[in-house]
Amino acid sequence: MNSLRRISPYIPGEQPTGEGLIKLNTNENAYPPSPNIIKKMAQFDYTDLRHYSSLDNQELRVAIGQKEGINPDYISLGNGSDDVLAIAFQSFFQSDKPVMFPDITYGFYKIWCDLFRIPYQEVPLSSDFTFDLENLPEKIGGIVLANPNAPTGLVKTVEEIEALLKKYPETVIIVDEAYISFGGKSVIKLVETYPNLYVTRTFSKDSALAGIRLGYGVGGERLTSVVKAVKNSYNPYSVNSLTEAVGLEAVLDESYYKDTLKKIIDTREWFTGELSKLGFTTIESSTNFVFTKHKTKQAKDIQDYLKGKNIYVRYFSDNPRIKQYLRISIGTQEEMESVIKVLKEYMNEKSGG
Ligand SMILES: *Cc1c(COP(=O)(O)O)cnc(C)c1O
Repeated sequence: MNSLRRISPYIPGEQPTGEGLIKLNTNENAYPPSPNIIKKMAQFDYTDLRHYSSLDNQELRVAIGQKEGINPDYISLGNGSDDVLAIAFQSFFQSDKPVMFPDITYGFYKIWCDLFRIPYQEVPLSSDFTFDLENLPEKIGGIVLANPNAPTGLVKTVEEIEALLKKYPETVIIVDEAYISFGGKSVIKLVETYPNLYVTRTFSKDSALAGIRLGYGVGGERLTSVVKAVKNSYNPYSVNSLTEAVGLEAVLDESYYKDTLKKIIDTREWFTGELSKLGFTTIESSTNFVFTKHKTKQAKDIQDYLKGKNIYVRYFSDNPRIKQYLRISIGTQEEMESVIKVLKEYMNEKSGG
């Protein structure tokens, strides 16, 4: 059957289950989602599930719009930001010029380009993993920027992104802000000034709702209308009714999330300091993970050792530039104390002492 599609899919981090494991390999939130969600779900009228979910997601879009200070008409919801991004790629990148993104970034961008037959070019990051935005080619089909970037954790300023939007007024620039609340400053408000900007967000990381699959995209009228047309060409229902109800509670409970964000950021700073005492060099992170390498030990060996102790961290074997690095999500303070304890054991055993 020659007609079958040949494609190599994206491979997400493992999802092990079991007692007592410390799962720090997919950047999930260390803490549970807002407790208000439990109350809300207890009141949910399940008989209503016989109806299709909302077509316009008005209530949730208005709540997000209020929180972010943007026009709700500029917001489109999706089944996780992976869904939003996949629709955005299909909506915006119909040129024969290549779409640009760094050689070290979210692995899905390349996969979507292959899937949707979009030409692309990976731009090598500098040796310190920064992205030189000033020397991109003139003629490009689009730019995709995870900000902060993953797995490096490095962030660009609003001014740097604004300069890019000005330089390429006819080119769509997608800014994937999956981790923005852990450190960076959002460019979301710039959608009102720059018709070429599209920003994506997810509830998976900062809102601790990876399992609910909810994300959104924000763009001006022109981009949003294309997104809607593409979306309505294959599945007009963005999210299911349960997801919409849960997402709304999460948006409304701002103070709970401020607290969990602070806890995660404090633990990240503590953990980075402890890693340094053990001989690791860690890139300054604006996210809920750190990207770190040891001065003498192999990343793969450390990963294997941790796994033997039921601690899962991410290692990227297929990119030679980052083979010495581990990406470790920030868990609770207790979990990260356990990780440091195990790493100390490892260093003692391997130093022959
Ligand atoms: C986690 C992540 C996503 C996808 O998030 P979902 O909403 O869970 O699909 C998108 N981009 C980056 C950079 C991510 O790390």
